[in-house]
Amino acid sequence: MKIPRFTYHRPATEEEALAMLTEFGEDAKVLAGGQSLIPLMALRLSRPAHLIDIGGLRELAAIRERSGTVSVGAAVRHVEVERSALVARAAPLAAAAMPHIGHGAIRNRGTACGSLAHADPAAELPAVALAAGASFVVRRASGERTVPASEFFLGYLTCDMGPDELLVEWRLPTWPVTAGWSVQEVSRRHGDFALLGMAAMIDTDPVGRISTAALSLFGAASTPIRVDAAEKLLTGEPPSAALFDEAAEIVKGQLDPPGDLHGTAAYRKHLGAVLTRRCLSEAAGRLGAAA
Ligand SMILES: Cc1cc2nc3c(=O)[nH]c(=O)nc-3n(C[C@H](O)[C@H](O)[C@H](O)COP(=O)(O)OP(=O)(O)OC[C@H]3O[C@@H](n4cnc5c(N)ncnc54)[C@H](O)[C@@H]3O)c2cc1C
Repeated sequence: MKIPRFTYHRPATEEEALAMLTEFGEDAKVLAGGQSLIPLMALRLSRPAHLIDIGGLRELAAIRERSGTVSVGAAVRHVEVERSALVARAAPLAAAAMPHIGHGAIRNRGTACGSLAHADPAAELPAVALAAGASFVVRRASGERTVPASEFFLGYLTCDMGPDELLVEWRLPTWPVTAGWSVQEVSRRHGDFALLGMAAMIDTDPVGRISTAALSLFGAASTPIRVDAAEKLLTGEPPSAALFDEAAEIVKGQLDPPGDLHGTAAYRKHLGAVLTRRCLSEAAGRLGAAA
């Protein structure tokens, strides 16, 4: 199906883009890589009268390390995150998620910030952001605010941004070099959205007990979710297969996932336990690997 008519705008500066968002408000949509927006328009699920293409904003096209964070600008494409030596070293959880996102062609066009602003609960990056304690820099013509990932994702395809706001930057705290990480998912075919997935990080103290644990699920609810009860169980204990089995049972018990044509709720609960074991084993094997 052809997409509905719209007026295309290609601002030359961020200031110009913000002015357009103020002017057109609800009638406009930001166009980043178009890998989610254009299919939605083709299905007539979104009918913006104006598309504001941010692809030419060079000031938003960088990945930088500053003030203890790795900052990914709004125009940075998935493929650039995937190939970034800085992300691999200082944000390995994000790097681990990248190969799971669609296919190469999609990662060549799609942007990391586009995926985060789109807030699909089955997408990898929102769950990575939640596990890593990331934050988002959101700007409008009249000012800027920073929103922690824990407050950003509000519901299905809904995040804490107004129609006149632009997500300009995704900030990931520089990785603690002692910590281990893992991103695991199960999908029907490689490149499909996950039936269920998990992004996990664990860190240990000098005597080898888990000091921090973050388990973040995607495809499990209307937003990515952390499993606090399992994180609490892990904290203060030395990593072991038996401990990870216990955490897996907690995750399974806490999950209340949707069921659909692709997998029942019971199957997704089962996957919750399987992915917890896989993630924690891989993360434990990587403790100190970023040092
Ligand atoms: C076949 C296929 C398979 C896919 N598989 C996966 C997958 O497995 N995992 C996954 O995570 N994704 C998947 N995707 C989606 C892909 O990753 C998209 O690139 C991503 O979701 C959106 O990024 P984009 O840059 O293309 O955003 P766009 O499609 O341009 O925009 C998406 C939405 O976000 C808004 N937006 C974009 N950037 C900003 C910004 N900076 N500020 C404010 N609003 C903004 C837009 O207005 C729009 O509402 C798949 C897509 C396809 C077509």
